[in-house]
Amino acid sequence: MSVAVTFLGTGGSVPNKFRNLPSVLLRRGPELLLFDCGEGTQRQFLQARAGTNRKMRIFISHLHGDHVFGLPGLLHSLSFMGRTRELEIIGPNGIAQLIGSINRIVKLHSQFLLVISEVSPGRVVDEEEYEVRAAAAKHGVPCLAYAFKEKPKPGRFDPVKARKLGIPEGPLWKRLQTTRSVKIGGKTISSRLVVGPPRRGVKITYAVDTRPCASVVRLARGSDLLIHDSSFDESASAKAREYGHSTAVEAARVAKASKARKLALFHISAMYENPAPLLAQAKGIFLQTILCKDMTTVYVTS
Ligand SMILES: [Zn+2]
Ligand SMILES: [Zn+2]
Repeated sequence: MSVAVTFLGTGGSVPNKFRNLPSVLLRRGPELLLFDCGEGTQRQFLQARAGTNRKMRIFISHLHGDHVFGLPGLLHSLSFMGRTRELEIIGPNGIAQLIGSINRIVKLHSQFLLVISEVSPGRVVDEEEYEVRAAAAKHGVPCLAYAFKEKPKPGRFDPVKARKLGIPEGPLWKRLQTTRSVKIGGKTISSRLVVGPPRRGVKITYAVDTRPCASVVRLARGSDLLIHDSSFDESASAKAREYGHSTAVEAARVAKASKARKLALFHISAMYENPAPLLAQAKGIFLQTILCKDMTTVYVTS
C-alpha cells in the first residue's frame, strides 16, 4: 500500500500568490494524518477531497501562527460538515491551552470528541500497523519534528510453493504468514519455505520549522520522503540562522546525512515568486529533491 502525501500549503510565515501556509496531508488507506494547519488549510483540505468523517489525527509542530491559525476554521468546518468521529490533536505544550481558549471565547460547537495530547520527543502514536515518533527541532520556540513509520509487513506468500508442499488452501495459508510453522499430518512446515522475508514499510519525516540539527537527522534516518524546512536560498543564509530556519542547501545536507531517499523542500519564504534557485542549489547536494506546488500529491512506497 502506498501512502499519498498531499502538500496543502507549502509556503512559510506569510502566504503569497502561489503558496498557502504550511500543511501536509498523509492518506494511508482510509486514515488521515494532517501535519500542521496553517490559515486556509480548511479550503485546501476540501479541495483535496479528504473526507470529513475519517479516522484522523492532526500533528502540530509548534505554536507559531502560520502553523496553527487554520485550526479553528478546520474544526468549525468539520463540525458543520457532519463530523461525528473523535479527532485527536497532538502537539507541544500549550496546544491544549490554545484550543481551550479559542473554544471558550468563540465556541467551536464541536459535534465530535476532541482529544488533545501534549507530547514530548519519543513515540507519540503506536498503531498496529504504524507509529509516529517526535523529536525536538531547533527553532526559537519548542518545536517538534515528526516521523511516520509503517511497521514491517509480513513477507509475500508463495501459493505455488505451498501447493507443491501439499499445504491445503484455506486458513493454513493465512496462519503461515503470521506464525513460524504449522503442523500437517504430524509434519512441521516452516513458514520460511512459503513466505518471503518481512517487507519494510514506508517512512515519512516532517521537520518544519528548524535549523539543521542532529535530532532531526536521527529522526529522519532512512526516510522514503523527508519534508524539511527550506525557507531560503543560500544568499539569505544569515536570515535562516537568525530566524531559526534552514536554507535549501542545509535541507539537502540533512537529507544526505539521514540517508533519505527523497527530499521535499517546504516552508518556502513568500519572498520567492520563483523558487527555482532553491531547487537547483539543493540538487547540487542531494539529487533526489523536489519542490512541490500547493495541492501536489506524491505517492510514497517502500
Ligand atoms: Zn513557520
Ligand atoms: Zn516557526
